[in-house]
Amino acid sequence: MHDPDCLFCKIVEGEIPSTKVYENEFVYAFEDISPMMPTHVLVVPKDHYDNIADNIPAEELGHLMQGAVDVARLRGLVGDGFRIVINTNDDACQTVHHVHVHVLGGEQMNDGNPHIA
Ligand code: AMP
Ligand code: ZN
Repeated sequence: MHDPDCLFCKIVEGEIPSTKVYENEFVYAFEDISPMMPTHVLVVPKDHYDNIADNIPAEELGHLMQGAVDVARLRGLVGDGFRIVINTNDDACQTVHHVHVHVLGGEQMNDGNPHIA
């Protein structure tokens, strides 16, 4: 289930370079190219889904969310805290239409900070 025109499918396949943070059978995690926090990692399913509402099987959704928590733990963020963001379609300023979870942390946040758009 790969889309040949999709940026994040190409990253999963290694056709476009990325800085890998974590990988398992289901998900791939890599550094955001324009980080908004000390930790700003994107977690994506290896299969292509346009967004979180794209009829993702519950088991795959679970792996995606578990991957985000695994990345937060890997970065030592669980104690101090972290934020996950999933932008979906135009009103939320989704720019890459392969579902991805932003994992953000490493400094104090407040409401609206960071604004991921
Ligand atoms: P969104 O606005 O939620 O669709 O987020 C897309 C994210 O992908 C943004 O935070 C971008 O900085 C990030 N991004 C775009 N291209 C790349 C890339 N080649 N490698 C890593 N991150 C990227
Ligand atoms: Zn894709």
